[in-house]
Amino acid sequence: MSRLKDKHAIITGAAQGQGAAIARAFVAEGARVVVADVADDLGDALADDLDDAACFIHHDVSDPTSWDDVVGEAEQWFGTAVDVLVNNAGILRFGEVDTMPLQELDLLININLRGCFLGMRAVAPAMKKSRRGSIINCSSVEGLAGMAHLTAYTGTKFAIRGMTKAAAVELGAHGVRVNSVHPGMIDTSMTQAHGGDAAMQWGATRVPLERVGTPEDVAPLYVHLASDESGYTTGGEFAVDGGVTATHSFYPGNDGGAVR
Ligand code: NAD
Repeated sequence: MSRLKDKHAIITGAAQGQGAAIARAFVAEGARVVVADVADDLGDALADDLDDAACFIHHDVSDPTSWDDVVGEAEQWFGTAVDVLVNNAGILRFGEVDTMPLQELDLLININLRGCFLGMRAVAPAMKKSRRGSIINCSSVEGLAGMAHLTAYTGTKFAIRGMTKAAAVELGAHGVRVNSVHPGMIDTSMTQAHGGDAAMQWGATRVPLERVGTPEDVAPLYVHLASDESGYTTGGEFAVDGGVTATHSFYPGNDGGAVR
């Protein structure tokens, strides 16, 4: 398996969940990977497990200095420039429009939106210079449509989708591609923290494929977007959501219910 042979990737938020699955999939396809995260123990353990193909670097996506450090250290470890950036790190906060504390809004903006922008800013100069690069920004189905109690989170994920398109237009002439991924409900610590298995069971009833996703469902799309096989794809938005955004149905659930 060598779809990512000679690729050098930084994956943010890679210590667990979707980021960890993406790191494993990248390594399985021949890439060398920097596992970047604020979760040191989990990140270290994953990098150990991936052996020589990965190293862990402590990294806070909301901090510009941390971006300078992670890109510098990654280039040193790779011995060459970064050619794939996966802006995967993110946080989820529920809250109603009229009561959500502003600190929560600011935290979401700083990590989800600012983190993604800083990442693109940090790798763009070297990618432009080498005229090769793929940046993959993790949005969400909340970057395609709204959900109650997620107004602030939805705002950050729509922003990521928009920034992806603007950056793709700007960087296209330099040989750098930028795309966004829109996962549906995926079983990770993020979703487990908000309702656990009961939330998973509820979610499954809303999805055409009748199950929530796993990190391993998501990772192959990232492999495709990182590889040269997607060389004519930029500014695109790619849902990996079990079909949940394929419907405008008013009906809760997929059994047809009252209208069948
Ligand atoms: P997760 O909580 O398992 O993983 C997120 C990782 O991001 C964690 O390891 C965490 O330590 C890291 N992180 C948080 N703040 C950080 C910071 N400031 N700097 C660096 N790393 C930081 O969740 P996940 O489901 O794997 O989420 C990955 C991405 O997928 C996120 O952007 C999330 O918004 C998005 N997403 C998740 C779902 C879902 O249902 N789980 C759906 C759509 C989109």
